[in-house]
Formats: sequence, C-alpha cells, structure tokens
Amino acid sequence: MGLESMPDPVPGPGGLTIRIKAAAICGTDMRIYRGIKTRGVRLPAVLGHEFAGVVDAQNASSFTKGQRVVLCPALSCGTCRHCQAGASNICENLAAYGYGPDGGFAELVNVPRAFVEAGHVLPLADDVSFEEAALAEPLACVINGQEVMGLQPGAHVAVLGAGPIGLLHVMLAKARGAGRISVVQRSAARRAAALAVGADEALAPEEAGGLQADAAIVAVGSPDLANLAARITRPRGLINLFAGFPAGELPRFDLNAVHYGEHHVTGAFGLTLKQFREALDLIASGRVPAGQFVTHRFPLEQAMQAFALAETGQALKAVITPGA
Ligand SMILES: [Zn+2]
Ligand SMILES: [Zn+2]
Repeated sequence: MGLESMPDPVPGPGGLTIRIKAAAICGTDMRIYRGIKTRGVRLPAVLGHEFAGVVDAQNASSFTKGQRVVLCPALSCGTCRHCQAGASNICENLAAYGYGPDGGFAELVNVPRAFVEAGHVLPLADDVSFEEAALAEPLACVINGQEVMGLQPGAHVAVLGAGPIGLLHVMLAKARGAGRISVVQRSAARRAAALAVGADEALAPEEAGGLQADAAIVAVGSPDLANLAARITRPRGLINLFAGFPAGELPRFDLNAVHYGEHHVTGAFGLTLKQFREALDLIASGRVPAGQFVTHRFPLEQAMQAFALAETGQALKAVITPGA
C-alpha cells in the first residue's frame, strides 16, 4: 500500500467526477488493508467509501460543476431476489466503492452513469459539512443493523464496543427512542465517550453480567463480545452481530445460550439507498450529530500516517481531506 500518481478520471456518458473534500477511514478499509477482508475486494484498488466533495466535471445534466455532493457508495441491481425483497444491501450484483470502483482516498473519483441515474449522488445542504456527509455511509449501515435486528422504541439495548460504530449505534438508538442504553467497553476513555453521546450507563465487560437487556449489538468483531452479548440478553432477546469477525477461524460461540434463551440472532451488512438518505437527514437535522466523531484530519500526502494512526485505535474517526 502506498501513495501513487494516477491519471485524472474522465467522466463517461451520463457520469461525473467528484473532487474529494473529505474521505473518512473506516474499519472496513483497515480490514482490507490488513488482508483480513478479501471477499469482493479487487486489488490493486483505491480504497475509501465514506466521502463527499464537489462535482468537478459532469456529463450528467442534473448536476453542475462545483455542486456539493455526497455519494451513496453501494449500487444494487434492482432485479435480483434480494433487491426484489427490499434487501438491496445484500444484492447479488452489488457494485461498491472501495471494493470495486476506485474510491475516495484520491483527489478525484469517477462516478458512472448507473450511480447517477439511480440517485446515488445526493446534493448537500449548505450547512452540512463534507466530513459530516462522509459519515452518512457508516450511519446508514448502523440504521440497517438496527432495522434487521428489529430494535423497537422503548427497548433496553446494550451496545458492546464503543468505537465509532458503537457510538453511532448509541446515537441512533437514542434518536429512535430506546428505553435505556447500556454500553459495554473495556477502555475507560471510550466509556466516557459513550456517556457523552447519550448512553445511560457504560460498563466494563466484567460489570455487565446482570444486564438482562432486551437487545444487544456487537459493534466490535470480537468473539468474546458475541458470547458476552448472549449472556447479557434476556430470554427471547435480540442479538445483532453487526461487526465483521476475523476471517479464517471459526470462533467459539455459546450455542446453548442461544438455544435455551430462544435468542434471535441476526447479522448485518451494508446499507440501502433509502437508509443512506435517512442517515443524511438525521445528520443534517442534527438528530445524530455524527460529525463530532472526527478527531483527526490529514491531507492526502499524509494518507499513510492517517492509516498508521487508525491502526493504533487512538482516533475515533480520521478523515483525509484532499481538497482542503
Ligand atoms: Zn465504512
Ligand atoms: Zn440485486
């Protein structure tokens, strides 16, 4: 992995190019970078799927040069059985930036006609910053997770792991009227962060035993946390395995906890365009102030330093700002 010069992309018929202003580093980028995630990944590639910027050149009449936009980076086919069932996030023919087309850790990104025509380029309101807009993608994934698991207003929800994704889960659960939000997290600094974004309590794992939550979201890909989720969820409670787990090993999971507890266990992957629009609305209206997670900013020339920092886990959200 490194920094390379590439020819500027030229928009195809009906397409456009975006000059990137903010591109956030995501756990998925780190998983691809470390070789943990290989499914659907085409290499070599420009990573980065959480980004916003301005239209640079366009062959699409619905946009103008200089217009502020954000891209919903996963395009579904609309015709496969999953798309037909409304689960376009698990489309059989998904095209997603950062895996397929070259992504946002660059000065310019090419957006083909298919994305433009499907409404995946969304104009930004003046008062939404580029970096806030870049966080619509992870928030949309979080919306998907809470929808797939069937989280209801009033529920007592436990969020296991308070990285940026766990904190977004807290904010969203709060915005959607959760009855009580308990965060389980080893680091005291992250527990404090969870309380600051609206968690009712933040516990170390060894303090969580008696929770009996209605629902638990595993927001960090640790098999230990998945087992803890099964132990702290009440019978017939909901468990969502939101985070991806290490590939290549079969983790030990307490199947009898699920069996006797009649737990409902769900996974989560990606987002739909509808969820992306909703995420952008939640951010624009201030109901989910996701922008506060951006703790570090780097020019494109320092992209490798940004990745090194992301590796340490010290940054909540690091953003690369090529056009700043
Ligand atoms: Zn992401
Ligand atoms: Zn499809």
